[in-house]
Amino acid sequence: MFSKKKITMAYTVEQCTKCGMQVKRKFEEGDILFVNTTKCVSCDGLSMIEKIFGESVDQ
Ligand SMILES: [Zn+2]
Repeated sequence: MFSKKKITMAYTVEQCTKCGMQVKRKFEEGDILFVNTTKCVSCDGLSMIEKIFGESVDQ
């Protein structure tokens, strides 16, 4: 049996299409792969959702 309770957190990784800067953040409802979303934090390019993944973390 599992001694620790584990939950799966969903994360979204955004990558700037201009400078390649990657930002990992918590998944938000409505996130869709390969869609331009937010403005890059280090240049004036646009960040695109590069991947969405789940990660098990200890509760
Ligand atoms: Zn950038």
